[in-house]
Amino acid sequence: MPLKPDLIVKKMELNPKNIVKPGDLVSLNDYPPEYTGAYEKKGQTKRRLKKLHKELLELQGLLYAESQHSLLIILQGMDTCGKDGTIRRVMGGINVQGCDVFNFKVPTADELSRDFLWRAHKAVPSKGKIGIFNRSHYEDVLVVRVHNLVPEQVWSQRYQQINDFEKMLVENGTVVMKFYLHISKDEQKERLESRISDPTKHWKVEASDIRERAYWDNYMQAYEVMLQKCSTDWAPWYIIPANKKWYRNLVVTECIVERLKKLDMKYPEPSIDVTDLTIGD
Ligand code: ADP
Repeated sequence: MPLKPDLIVKKMELNPKNIVKPGDLVSLNDYPPEYTGAYEKKGQTKRRLKKLHKELLELQGLLYAESQHSLLIILQGMDTCGKDGTIRRVMGGINVQGCDVFNFKVPTADELSRDFLWRAHKAVPSKGKIGIFNRSHYEDVLVVRVHNLVPEQVWSQRYQQINDFEKMLVENGTVVMKFYLHISKDEQKERLESRISDPTKHWKVEASDIRERAYWDNYMQAYEVMLQKCSTDWAPWYIIPANKKWYRNLVVTECIVERLKKLDMKYPEPSIDVTDLTIGD
């Protein structure tokens, strides 16, 4: 029976199974990308999402005022999985002054002449801020692994190097949240076809999207290894069912709000006694 909007569950929407336990063997076939929890349609989630957006804005204000932590959000997934849409819809309501988005493209010659984490480290948000990685250092164990862009002996060391890097970030006050936006191969086909049939979306279609689709199974395998090796106590991976954009937005927003609440942030003590202040005319 469909749930009435006002009966919608108040608890954490994401199934605990979708937070990958360190070392867990992950088979992505076990995670239905079309899953929408207690909801059947977008309209049922609107009120809850609105409330979460309000909370997120308040929490961002606290993060900025307290300036003891930063929040790094990492988004990964296959082409068309909705990284851009997630950024637009989840972070759309927050104060842009406190948030930076970084897109990780094919590395430049300068980036390739350094260690693979260099460009990621440079982009980590400063205290008080939110940073979003649209793709990330994980490309160095995904596309790089699938296409053997460096020898196996090099990419195979990177899982541990990434875990150590993220641990260092966490120990220095950065909260690291990693979302794998899980879509099905059929859903990707539909999204690519809809881009091809809509002239206003042609600019989004790249030959590489079609080319990389042929490597779908290799990517799934690379994602499974990444999820198993790099979901840690300090920086867990979340597997987000992402065929339905509205459910994806709800769950990602909820995860971020819940995580920020756990920081138990406080506004800093005023540096002067404001109760005695009078403002001159
Ligand atoms: P997006 O697909 O995220 O909207 P682009 O179309 O510009 O953005 O794609 C960025 C491309 O850069 C992707 O194909 C991605 O695999 C590639 N890329 C990112 N990081 C690396 C890397 N370290 N090595 C090789 N390719 C990378």
